[in-house]
Amino acid sequence: MRVTVLGTGVMGAGMARSLRRAGVEVDAWNRTREKADPLAEDGVRVHGSVADAVAEADVVVLMLFDTDAVLEVLAEGFPTAGHGPVWVQSSTIGLEGTRRAAALAEQAGAAFVDAPVLGTKQPAEQGRLVFLASGAEELRDRVAPAFDAMGSKTIWVGAEAGRGSALKLVCNSFVGTLTAAIGQSVGFAQQLGLDPRLFLDALDGGASDSPYVHVKGAMMVDGSFPASFALDGVRKDFGLMRDAEEASGTRTTLTEAVLACFDAAAAQGHGSDDMAAVVTAFHQG
Ligand code: NAP
Repeated sequence: MRVTVLGTGVMGAGMARSLRRAGVEVDAWNRTREKADPLAEDGVRVHGSVADAVAEADVVVLMLFDTDAVLEVLAEGFPTAGHGPVWVQSSTIGLEGTRRAAALAEQAGAAFVDAPVLGTKQPAEQGRLVFLASGAEELRDRVAPAFDAMGSKTIWVGAEAGRGSALKLVCNSFVGTLTAAIGQSVGFAQQLGLDPRLFLDALDGGASDSPYVHVKGAMMVDGSFPASFALDGVRKDFGLMRDAEEASGTRTTLTEAVLACFDAAAAQGHGSDDMAAVVTAFHQG
């Protein structure tokens, strides 16, 4: 099997390495080529153009920042792909973005699977992502070996492309809100003059505890935010959630409030830091 990864940022680079570890032939392209070049050490063939990268692919995985990037790269790739690969769209682009990408694929006669992922940098590197997939049933066997190499689990949400992205928004809504909730409690503890580690100790092992609370909580307590998932990416996702909530008749009250917290942290210069930097939104003055 030969898989092309388009976009080798935090997630795409880890996914390319996981595919190589599983013995898959991997081609890659990244807009900023220097960021992809180190993957050559893992046996990835790095290309200077989308056209070259997709020419021989059985499966093409897109792992780009947003809808505009995905639509641009698809438009470039569709006419040049050799023998009809399956295009797996794994970037988080929401419902409208997925609808537009699927429509482009249909126009081009290309096989398309919507497959955003759960998991951040480390699961991507370890091949332990969760794929939330939707698309025609006859495509599932063709993409399964690639999903198995990059992920620990695939949930097929439906045959209509876009159902996977709907579930992804639902899951990210929880994760983003949880991160802001941890930030609020750590920030609140600090403002009250408490050692915020006491908050983490108090939750430890209880019903409301989770490994995530301690991972993000420790970053917040230390004030150290190397990006696993950049705060600007979460802001982009909360915009997608708000759009999908409005379109589906879901109240946006909490989404708006949480987005305002991430926006406040970004305004303090934390946009490219990890989402844990949301803790800074709770410090007044
Ligand atoms: P990232 O490190 O910021 O990488 C973004 C990638 O998109 C880079 O390859 C970047 O190229 C490329 N890109 C941006 N704009 C582009 C454009 N106009 N044309 C072509 N390429 C463009 O982001 P990431 O964390 O890997 O996330 C990638 C996607 O996965 C996002 O949709 C994100 O929401 C989603 N996701 C992320 C996580 C996570 O924890 N990080 C988890 C699940 C899903 P350059 O290198 O040239 O900038």
